[in-house]
Amino acid sequence: MLFSDLTAVFEKLEATRARLEITSDVAKLLKECDSRNVRKVVYLLQGIVQPSFTGVDLGVGDKLAQQAISRVSGKTIKQIEASYRKTGDLGETGKELLSIKAQTSLVNAELSVDKVYDNFYKIATASGQGSQDLKIKLLSELLSNSSPVEAKVILRFTTGSLRLGLGDQTIIDAFSFFEKGDKSVKQVFEKAFNFTSDLGFVAELFFEKGLQAVDEVKPMPFNPIRPALAERLQDSKEIFEKLGKCSVEGKYDGFRLQVHLSNGRVEIYSRKQEKITEMFPEIVEGVKKYFNAKQVIFEGEAIVVKDGKFLPFQATIQRKRKHGVSEKAKELPLKLYCFELLYLDGKDLTGLKYEQRRTKLDSIIKNNTDVVLANRIIASSSEEIEEYFLDCLAKGLEGVIAKDLNAPYVAGGRKFAWIKLKKSYSDKLVDTVDVVIVGYYYGKGKRTQFGFGGLLTAVLNEDSNEFETIAKIGTGFSEEQMSFFQNELGKIKLKQKPSNVSSLIDADEWVQPKIVVEIAADEITKSPMHTAGMVGREGYALRFPRFLRIREDKSVDECTTVLEVLELFERQRR
Ligand code: ATP
Repeated sequence: MLFSDLTAVFEKLEATRARLEITSDVAKLLKECDSRNVRKVVYLLQGIVQPSFTGVDLGVGDKLAQQAISRVSGKTIKQIEASYRKTGDLGETGKELLSIKAQTSLVNAELSVDKVYDNFYKIATASGQGSQDLKIKLLSELLSNSSPVEAKVILRFTTGSLRLGLGDQTIIDAFSFFEKGDKSVKQVFEKAFNFTSDLGFVAELFFEKGLQAVDEVKPMPFNPIRPALAERLQDSKEIFEKLGKCSVEGKYDGFRLQVHLSNGRVEIYSRKQEKITEMFPEIVEGVKKYFNAKQVIFEGEAIVVKDGKFLPFQATIQRKRKHGVSEKAKELPLKLYCFELLYLDGKDLTGLKYEQRRTKLDSIIKNNTDVVLANRIIASSSEEIEEYFLDCLAKGLEGVIAKDLNAPYVAGGRKFAWIKLKKSYSDKLVDTVDVVIVGYYYGKGKRTQFGFGGLLTAVLNEDSNEFETIAKIGTGFSEEQMSFFQNELGKIKLKQKPSNVSSLIDADEWVQPKIVVEIAADEITKSPMHTAGMVGREGYALRFPRFLRIREDKSVDECTTVLEVLELFERQRR
């Protein structure tokens, strides 16, 4: 496949908003693929070179890309920077400056998808001495063979600013359209993706062996399983009405970790399926020592416990670091509270009842104090749930999670198999909300020095695949957080509102929807200003929103959805 064919589809996707049209365009593109290239095409559509759990990340900085543009166009870095300041988009700058090239390659061949992908892969995996030069060389090679539009896409891809607005879900729908002309088999692809977190793998398997093989995909060590998520209910009474006799566990406020062990090798994955093994050496050691099994996939919440007390999330978050890991591990030791067993010695356990999985988990953890089972009770009345909930709060936990004793593990799903109950539900009308930053404002007064005054945030409308605004947030930031935002948002700012953001209000700067933050609010109100769930002239807005924390562990497609906002609004009305 020629790269120009793929670029044409990318151009169209960028200009399209309607999800159905996007799905049908991707399905058409799949028709042009074969089993040798479909994996690469799918990764390129996702904007990645490899799934995040492999740890292979393109990560080309603007500076490196500018050097490649300079090499091929003959322009100086100063000239490139001047153009970049004007366009605000290195892709556009490249397109403009590379239309007349100083350097074209000897074999001036048309770029193929294979060639582009292979160079991306080499760039992503180059390391050690000379790797910067090699990366510039590989990128220059692509740029010197590309048309201006191809150069734009290549530069945006390598610097992580591709704007297709294409979620994994749309690609999954497209597989179903490709196979059946409608969404009727999307669950088959979705399940395989939820078990493997690798759409490229699923695509290749489908092209090689067909739908049946995709349907038979099971979890396997070192492919993280997409996490099951919890629903919310207002109080213990509602929970007991829904579940009856149930398991009630402490809700630890730390990091959710998925741990894979197979024949002595241990890997740890975040909730976003990133490989984060190196950050938690004591957990790797603990798992090797205390698990009585050859192969396991299990989940737990890691939290800093000091002198028998749970430290707040702000302490635990300090353990999420790449440098100085062992010093911090001594200062802030983690304890892992295990709550799910998904795979054991070659067997997929996700289909078993919760209670069976928990019993097996109990049987394979040796007696120790570092890697332990999450505490729980079996509750036979709402009073028992309430009592345990209060008990957990007194111990410094965030609340409880009640679990259906008979439910299977639903990878990637928010289901009533798990129901969370937090302290905040009783004090406030609304639960905290995880929103995506789509823009920001410059500060006035004292805040001028930070170049940051507040955030414009949005929730996800899963039908249209757009981010719809729900709140402007101006309070709750520490000075440190303000300069963090000024820095980080400056890196991802855009000249225009991104095409997958729906907003009636302007921001001082628009940004790529990349960062999720958790906010608290007093209530949800109807508002003509915000587009979240808008019908006619009224959308929904958060009243008195306050910044709580950055949700590094959540990707943008895991933010609060419009549907959840509507549910919260209804609950608040009741
Ligand atoms: P929240 O913002 O309320 O933590 P969330 O959106 O991050 O919610 P949910 O699925 O709604 O995620 O809540 C479940 C989260 O609670 C899990 O992802 C996990 O990190 C955490 N957790 C803590 N203790 C437990 C437990 N015993 N069982 C399951 N999850 C737990």
